[in-house]
Amino acid sequence: MTRPVVLFDLDDTVFAHRESVEAGIAAHRTTLGGALAAADRANEFARWNALEELHYHRYLTGELDFLQQRRERARGFLKPYGVQLDDAAADEWFDRYLVHYESTWTLHADTLPCLEALRPARFGVITNGSLPFQAAKIDGVGLSPWIEHVIASGEVGIAKPDPRIFHIACGVFEVEPAEAVYVGDRLHTDAIGAARAGLLGVWLDRPGIATRAELAEAAAEGVPVIRSLAELPALLA
Ligand SMILES: [Mg+2]
Repeated sequence: MTRPVVLFDLDDTVFAHRESVEAGIAAHRTTLGGALAAADRANEFARWNALEELHYHRYLTGELDFLQQRRERARGFLKPYGVQLDDAAADEWFDRYLVHYESTWTLHADTLPCLEALRPARFGVITNGSLPFQAAKIDGVGLSPWIEHVIASGEVGIAKPDPRIFHIACGVFEVEPAEAVYVGDRLHTDAIGAARAGLLGVWLDRPGIATRAELAEAAAEGVPVIRSLAELPALLA
């Protein structure tokens, strides 16, 4: 069955978020001097990543606003170094990190060839995040001409995996859920969320970290698993 609308998650699906974050925090640290600049790259990246997972989730559940989750990430990162930041200092620190993060924004190399191959399908993004920030990324990597609509949780007030955000997206495209595909890097938030909303949910496992239990769960939910967007056109053909 041909599905005329293909929707994507943004971060770590079409946009190389993890790679930008790793380069961004490493570059930011080197400007900070002392122990921070000298710290182990992999370790500090893992810690920064964990703080993002923790506090971004708190933002998505409404516990923190967008600015507060950034401040908490900055504070958590500097805590082991005995550095304390008030709100203004935390904002300033995070803004300087963002300059480095933004300087490395890039699409995954398989994104544009995948979109080319899927034409004349129509494309959109459903993302858990702030619309201005996510739209700036889409713009910054040259994806805007491809994307008809961006549905952001920060704008609609509902986050994935809530089925309503998938239904809102289908409504915007004026198609039934069964006519749409959703591809994302998170099994539950993205792929199973979409599948339960009636779309074809596809799990993009780029690092190949799926466990046997996760693969069984995906199969039980009718979720195909791919390792690269290069596999998507054949899957949907
Ligand atoms: Mg993602």
